[in-house]
Amino acid sequence: MEKIYTIPVNEAFDACAEDKEKGCPFCEMYRCLEKKELEIILGASMMEPDIRIKTNEMGFCNKHFTMMLKRKNRLGLALMLESHLDHLKKEASGVNGLKKIGKINDSCYVCSRINNNFDKMFETAVWLYDKDKAFEEKTRNQSYFCMHHYHKFLTAGKGVLNKRKYADFEALVQKVNADYLETLQADVSWFCKKFDYRFKDEPWGNSKDSPERAIKFLTGSNEAEE
Ligand SMILES: [Zn+2]
Ligand SMILES: [Zn+2]
Repeated sequence: MEKIYTIPVNEAFDACAEDKEKGCPFCEMYRCLEKKELEIILGASMMEPDIRIKTNEMGFCNKHFTMMLKRKNRLGLALMLESHLDHLKKEASGVNGLKKIGKINDSCYVCSRINNNFDKMFETAVWLYDKDKAFEEKTRNQSYFCMHHYHKFLTAGKGVLNKRKYADFEALVQKVNADYLETLQADVSWFCKKFDYRFKDEPWGNSKDSPERAIKFLTGSNEAEE
């Protein structure tokens, strides 16, 4: 397995095992990739003609445009927008305009760059689990895997591991999430109870941010920490 993938996987699993607030280690990897891609696109590669061709063709999603706006290079962003709008105008008025606009609307240069690398992270994590006893321990020490990445992690495991190993792997990953789900459910239930007058003077415990945590658990957290 290539080192360029094992390093970020190990780093994210370490960071999330150490600081449980971070949550899903794959979300952590996603945030790192996202940060790196935004730095690259708003930095030196912004003016490179072959990259400009790609950003003209793909554009960006709302989330990544918003993240770029928050960064400092407003002129660079505006220059990219200038030529993207120009491209858009030509495509919209040309043959198959409707189809082409649909394609532009659904694509994002940053998302596609991230996803190219991100999918490999799941196989790499399974590979590490298979080869490295310490990584098995790191997997056990995760707070949880958000449901999207839980599904991807187990699916990757099914593709890589033999039947017997997969059964162990599945049991381990399921256990991590089952434990978290148990406390999360209790917290959400307590949150609901707190609106009942009979419990209004009881302490909140860990339930106050449980709706936020439940959503993070269900959908992942891809918000960049800026
Ligand atoms: Zn996740
Ligand atoms: Zn995007």
